[in-house]
Amino acid sequence: MTDKLDKLAIHTITTKSWSTEQCIANYSAAGIGAITFWRYNFEGRDPSTVGRQARDAGLAVASVARGGFFPAESAQQRQAAIDDNLKAIEEAAAVGSPSLVLVCGAHAGQSLNDSRLQIRDGIAACIDHAEQAGVILAVEPLHPMYADSRSAINTMDQANELCESLGSHPNLGIACDLYHTWWDPSLESEITRAAVSGNLTAYHICDWITPTSDILNDRALMGEGCIDITRISSALSNAGFTGYHEVEIFSQRWWAADQDDYLSAIIKSFKTIQ
Ligand code: ZN
Repeated sequence: MTDKLDKLAIHTITTKSWSTEQCIANYSAAGIGAITFWRYNFEGRDPSTVGRQARDAGLAVASVARGGFFPAESAQQRQAAIDDNLKAIEEAAAVGSPSLVLVCGAHAGQSLNDSRLQIRDGIAACIDHAEQAGVILAVEPLHPMYADSRSAINTMDQANELCESLGSHPNLGIACDLYHTWWDPSLESEITRAAVSGNLTAYHICDWITPTSDILNDRALMGEGCIDITRISSALSNAGFTGYHEVEIFSQRWWAADQDDYLSAIIKSFKTIQ
């Protein structure tokens, strides 16, 4: 297999009809470098066994998705979110993942500022546990269209501010996802800022299709949409990023396709954007 695929990772939700075992077997057979597990992959399974199965198949574990969702109206709910994040950190460590992606959360019943303060407090409550577990918490800024309910952290600038406000802790970083950040005129300078501070942890790729028919489940395969992926990948590379390019596509259209053909299409498109 070509070396190009060594840097390719796939989020299991991309081929969500496949079981954990099918993802491991099929990604491995295709020569892909790494796998990012979603937490549903551990249901009824021991994460440490899943991690061993992946490594035995020649796949590195790129990351685990996802923790976060810290904001809530009551202190009890916020503590429950922290407890769930501590559990997610344990799972990430057990599967052998270097990081855990955080979709930080938001609550429409309160101000964005309150949600942002609760996100910071939630991360601060988890960071020691992450350090002990050897897991980096990777804050993923989400497109502003999700600011009501999924994340009050919406730009790379905000993610950088958040990391820096917590002292650029070695177990805190940023997952830069093209779907959420491609439109940002400050994207390249914020990528550099994150890298200089040691906060550039992960890179998620897909494409933005026009018109978008669903704001959650109509992501496109790389090359189908309008994102200048090569330019942004170059910005990461120039900033010193050497991690995986993690394909993360939620798409009713692709989920309905033959998944073997889909995996072939992912690999073909990945090669063309290098
Ligand atoms: Zn992502």
